[in-house]
Formats: sequence, C-alpha cells, structure tokens
Amino acid sequence: MERFSIGDVEVASIVERDGAWRNPLVMYPSAERGLVDEHLRGLPDFVYDAAQDLLVITYQTFVLRTPRHTILIDTCVGEDKPNRGDWLDYPKQPWLDGFAALGLRFEDIDYVFCTHLHVDHCGWNTRLVDGLWVPTFPNAKYIFGRREYEFWAAESEKGADPPGDVWRDSCLPVVEAGQALLVDDDHALDDSIWLTPTPGHTPGHVCVNLRSNGQRAVFTGDLMHHALQCREPDWYSCFCWDTAMSNRSRRMILESVTDTDTLVVPCHFPGTTAGRVVSDGDRFDYRFRGA
Ligand SMILES: [Zn+2]
Repeated sequence: MERFSIGDVEVASIVERDGAWRNPLVMYPSAERGLVDEHLRGLPDFVYDAAQDLLVITYQTFVLRTPRHTILIDTCVGEDKPNRGDWLDYPKQPWLDGFAALGLRFEDIDYVFCTHLHVDHCGWNTRLVDGLWVPTFPNAKYIFGRREYEFWAAESEKGADPPGDVWRDSCLPVVEAGQALLVDDDHALDDSIWLTPTPGHTPGHVCVNLRSNGQRAVFTGDLMHHALQCREPDWYSCFCWDTAMSNRSRRMILESVTDTDTLVVPCHFPGTTAGRVVSDGDRFDYRFRGA
C-alpha cells in the first residue's frame, strides 16, 4: 500500500487488484511494436511482464486524509456486481482488508470522488444489502460530474448493457439516497481540492487536484493507463470514447505538470504509482516516486 503526504494531507492507496493484465498493442490500437519495446526498456521493470508480453495494471482507490475530511478517489470494481464479465471477477476481499488496515470504517468517509463512471472507478460506491444496492459510505457525499452522470444515464436508457448495469447499480442508488452532488467539471470542493475537465476517455472525465501547504498533486484517473503514454501521448487506449479528445486532454495535463513539483497520481500505474513528469523534446518522461 502506497503512502505519501502532500502538505497536511496524508494519501494512501487501497489496491483491489495488481499484476500483468493487457497486451500493449491491444491496449493501444495505434501503437507500434518497435516503439513499445524501445520505451519499455527505459521504464522500471515493474510496469511490464515481458514473459507474457503484458502491461502491469493496478486497480486502486486513493484515500486522502485532510485536516477536515476523509476522502476517497475512485472506488474500483466492487463486490457482487452483476454482468461485469469474467475478467473483473477477481477476489474483492483485498480491497476490504486494505480499507480496514487504514483504520477506516464505512461511516468515516466524508466525500467520494469518481474521476469518471467506468466499471472500475465506481464499484464500491454501493454494496448489496438484503437484495438492494445501497451507498457503501452512509455519511459521504459522492461527487459525480453532471456531464458524466447524464451521459451514462442516457446510455442506460438506451439499454446499453454494460455499462447499463454500472450506472444502475453503482450510481443511481447514490442519487436516489440523496447522497450525490452532481457538479460542473471544474467544481471546487474548497481551496485545496478541485476538478479539471479532461474529457475524451469518457465525456465527463475529470482530474482531481490537491494543494496543501504549497505542495501539489493531481489524481489523473484514466487520463493515461500506463507510463508508455508519457512517451507517446497520442496513444489513446482501446477504452477511450473520443480518441482525439483523449489525446488533447492528456497532452494538456502533461504539459501543465512537466518539470514542476506537482506529483502525478494515475489510477492504474503499478509500483509506487505516483511520480513526476519531465520534458524530453516532444515527449514526456515519467519518473516513478522512489524509483
Ligand atoms: Zn480505469
């Protein structure tokens, strides 16, 4: 479990799943084999399983303890969710154990942020109790981007399945319980936590910014899934909704943090996850924290 501080805020991660997961050429449809191999040689060993030719992908939730609030960012796949497919049917107890290991109870969470509403970012929003989906965190306000929420609501109405189930079992019950705040994509919770719109992976994808005592971090959700995308910012993932928009948003954030002290915290990066971005001509280089 990763832990670090940004000013007065303690950050920890709860890992739901870790390990080799996706072939680079499947993950990045516009990637070239030669460039993949070249870039992987310059990255730490833990980002790639060479024996299986699979990128290593982590599924995790970030916990922020500020002087005033306890906050979650992204809530993985969750438990008991129907129609998720075999590939997401891995054990979920590690997430519950990780949550408890931080000394947390469900009642302790004040805010839940979802960078977007894909299956692996809103799962623990709800859990199944006596056959009903109820918010997992009874005292939390859940921050959903209005644009993102309404897009998936419309998809669900069209009968898209999935993601129909995801919206219906992990988002709608939170709204019905009166615990959701549907916000603009540049919403600010206070002067230390605010959103930046980064559409493309999904229509309402956002990054979550953190500032405390002069230190900065940005939680980038699925703006990028692997450090390869710092070397090649135009390699959109096979899961992106609008590939050109995804590329623009990725470049915009990478340029904004390059050669600064801002810690970048991408949801799916393995190992120490967080890192800093440095310039390298037209490309960027990702330096994992502690690597
Ligand atoms: Zn994801």
